[in-house]
Amino acid sequence: MKAAILVNLDMCIGCNACVIGCHVWKQNTEHTRVTVVTIGPAQSNGRLKMDFLPRMTEYCTLAECAPEPPCVSLCPVQALVCCDERAALEMLSSGERYQVSAVA
Ligand code: SF4
Repeated sequence: MKAAILVNLDMCIGCNACVIGCHVWKQNTEHTRVTVVTIGPAQSNGRLKMDFLPRMTEYCTLAECAPEPPCVSLCPVQALVCCDERAALEMLSSGERYQVSAVA
């Protein structure tokens, strides 16, 4: 069973395709299920850096989105990954900049 959605912070470009994709797929404008949070800008090694963090809200129904949620499949840069608990733990400890966006 898919248990989580992770985002690779080095890949997300903050385009909001995941937000729009979920909105259209669910055909429900009442509740926002995905938002993209902007973190920064902040200076790092003399350069400005900014991250984008897609966050699933309490209205996200990940379990209903089998086999793959539209937010994941519509991301143009494959920044989102939907996986089981074991794969999520491996990715979070891989050294890459993964963050948890949703947990089922
Ligand atoms: S996760 Fe993908 S679709 Fe969503 S804002 Fe980031 S790059 Fe765009």
